[in-house]
Amino acid sequence: MITRMSSLFLRTLREDPADAEVPSHKLLVRAGYVRRVAPGGYSWLPLGLRVLRRIEDVVREEMDAIGAQEIQFPALLPREPYEKTGRWTEYGDALFRVKDRKGADYLLGPTHEELFALTVKGEYSSYKDYPVVLYQIQTKYRDEARPRAGILRGREFVMKDSYSFDLDDDGLSRSYQLHRDAYIKIFDRLGLEYVIVAATSGAMGGSASEEFLAVAPTGEDTYVRSTESGYAANVEAVTTPAPPAQSIEDKPEAQVHYTPGTPTIATLVDYLNDKTDLGRTFTAADTLKNVMVKIRRPGQKDWEILGIGVPGDREVDTKRMEASLEPAEVALLEESDFAANPFLVKGYIGPKSLQDNGIRYLVDPRVVTGTAWVTGADKADHHVVDLVAGRDFTPDGTIEAAEVREGDASPDGKGSLVAARGIEIGHIFQLGRKYTDAFEVDALGADSKPIRITMGSYGVGVSRLVAVIAEQHHDELGLVWPRAVAPADVHVVIAGKDETVAAGAEKLAGELDAAGVRVLLDDRKATPGVKFADAELIGVPTILVVGRGLAKGVVEVKDRLSGDRQEIPVDDAVAHLVKLVRS
Ligand code: ATP
Ligand code: MG
Repeated sequence: MITRMSSLFLRTLREDPADAEVPSHKLLVRAGYVRRVAPGGYSWLPLGLRVLRRIEDVVREEMDAIGAQEIQFPALLPREPYEKTGRWTEYGDALFRVKDRKGADYLLGPTHEELFALTVKGEYSSYKDYPVVLYQIQTKYRDEARPRAGILRGREFVMKDSYSFDLDDDGLSRSYQLHRDAYIKIFDRLGLEYVIVAATSGAMGGSASEEFLAVAPTGEDTYVRSTESGYAANVEAVTTPAPPAQSIEDKPEAQVHYTPGTPTIATLVDYLNDKTDLGRTFTAADTLKNVMVKIRRPGQKDWEILGIGVPGDREVDTKRMEASLEPAEVALLEESDFAANPFLVKGYIGPKSLQDNGIRYLVDPRVVTGTAWVTGADKADHHVVDLVAGRDFTPDGTIEAAEVREGDASPDGKGSLVAARGIEIGHIFQLGRKYTDAFEVDALGADSKPIRITMGSYGVGVSRLVAVIAEQHHDELGLVWPRAVAPADVHVVIAGKDETVAAGAEKLAGELDAAGVRVLLDDRKATPGVKFADAELIGVPTILVVGRGLAKGVVEVKDRLSGDRQEIPVDDAVAHLVKLVRS
């Protein structure tokens, strides 16, 4: 097919859009691939839609190759199934809820576990029917708190979601592994640099779970990996190894100290070391910082105040804390909360008053029985030294809320951690029976006894991938698409007003087209400078310049990525390009 730029519905922009921060957003808008319609809502213009469709094709081929079968659900879904699993409320503010004219509740599907489980239950009944893997490539809706970076985080976006249904855990492991392998093929074919990391399963419930993160400094996800083993995890999923419990007996008595002018951990540590005579040196890691938050469970009106204790040398990582408390919503305490709870002495909050006043207190896993801490004494300007866990206070549980730092020991005991950023492009997890329990999805076994089906759920952010590929494949001039997804194979630029140049380019375009090469032909009445700039911005991997050289029987082939130019005889051009495109 020849796409003529003289009639293509495309206007490139010279300026970056004002709201764009990341390169992919700037370039996809400037090159005329997408246009903003609403916060987190984008339309696909012809070139953008082509890239999206090519990605869909790669995803579809690899899903079909593992025997997954494509189906399609509506995006507009009834409330009942989501009510049944609790997600109507659990999904919180991210769920678009709508009413029909009769007042019945509907939602715009954010993910479709419920519908797939119900559909399999409706069609299948015998153990002989299983396993089965179903998928769809479909528009999803999530009222994201922070739609961001154009199509990278939209409120309407395209996802490939698949679901496996197996009779037992071994079957589930196999289905999971098949998806893992398929995802590796997909992301390799798309030319992405990515890592596979351990993940939390979030609001979906379930156990084994991994994310595919495209390596990108602009990514919202932080992951760590070990310097000495294969360990890699999203920071949200890093579990802190608990040190062994210590004996309580040999610990000194807890003592309250007057510590004026110590509003921060640093000033407190200095004070203890300079102004007290405790016979040892303190560091921030000896202090226990108590951070107060409030949480609200889905569907509930009231907030619960929660105390979180972390070693004073670490900050609380909001994303880790929120992931640990999911699906509850988390907020910081406000002045009015402190006013309503006068036992909370700001800056000097200790475990004791929390426990005396029935406030739940969760601690970092390092706070094991027998560890002694310097912490707030619940009285202005006072701290308590040698407050011993398991003796002077008993936490209500542990929480992964403290930041993970580079240099921390790897949780698998091998090496230390290094950190980098990425963008989530895929997520696979073994859901187990949460949804099949909710809907009683059973198969009748060979012995006529029912077998509860176990499920896996697997997502690929198809529309996000357009942006992620752009994020990894661009330079200062514009986009540089990998061949597998480029909107055309060859961008033919007619560089010159001469009739014979135009005719020569048309002829080459026609021959390329006949050979199955997808051609974008710049046949506009514009200067060569404008055309070259647009070609570089649009990012077709190979540019064929037909210009003055034609009179001498040569054309120029430009590699968009390397910038290399090569003059070749016009008679060899088609064969040369066909070979290039197929390589
Ligand atoms: P994130 O942490 O980025 O919000 P998620 O954990 O909510 O992602 P899943 O529910 O596992 O994501 O969805 C599967 C895939 O869909 C993700 O791996 C991601 O690539 C894509 N995705 C999720 N939310 C969005 C969005 N708002 N816009 C575009 N793609 C998205
Ligand atoms: Mg999300």
